Amino acid sequence: MGTDLKKVLITKEEIDAKLAGLAEQIDAEYAGRELLLVGVLKGAVMVMADLARAVRTPATMDWMAVSSYGAGTQSSGVVRILKDLDTDIQDKHVLIVEDIIDSGLTLSWLLSNLGSRGPASLEVCTLLRKPDAAKVAIDVKWVGFDIPNEFVVGYGLDYAEKYRNLPFVGTLAPHVYGG
Ligand code: 5GP
Ligand code: MG
Ligand code: MG
Repeated sequence: MGTDLKKVLITKEEIDAKLAGLAEQIDAEYAGRELLLVGVLKGAVMVMADLARAVRTPATMDWMAVSSYGAGTQSSGVVRILKDLDTDIQDKHVLIVEDIIDSGLTLSWLLSNLGSRGPASLEVCTLLRKPDAAKVAIDVKWVGFDIPNEFVVGYGLDYAEKYRNLPFVGTLAPHVYGG
């Protein structure tokens, strides 16, 4: 890691505490129902693993992989399905689990794609949200942290596939991505 990291933005302890709080709200919302957690690969793996263990609501998990960003830090605006869900979500209570909402392009596309499959309900829980997301009219029910408009890594989030395994969320030193 060394000097690649500029600073720790959110510690592991802060993430744990936040997810515990979100899990309580999610349990209250889905009381008496079953949940289908849909994680968006690869960024959401850590959030999914921790949130899924924090909720008490019976839950199954499925995964989707989409691409909206390349190896760099800019949104391409193009969303492609790299891996679709294994299960049918019709009549299920679906909760999309996301790492971060930046432009909101990926999420608004996901919401209309999954929405067209006839789920009983469709909501979103994201660990992080950036200010640009406010420009897109999307309803995100649960947000962990609103963060400044900086490129972050760790806790599932990568830069060119690196840093996903950091247990915290941090910002990269500009020299790492040529900034
Ligand atoms: P959006 O479509 O909302 O602009 O971005 C969606 C995806 O872009 C996220 O799921 C994530 O994979 C990637 N992304 C957006 N902002 C960041 C960031 O600050 N750091 C990293 N590592 N990925 C980001
Ligand atoms: Mg994501
Ligand atoms: Mg990425």
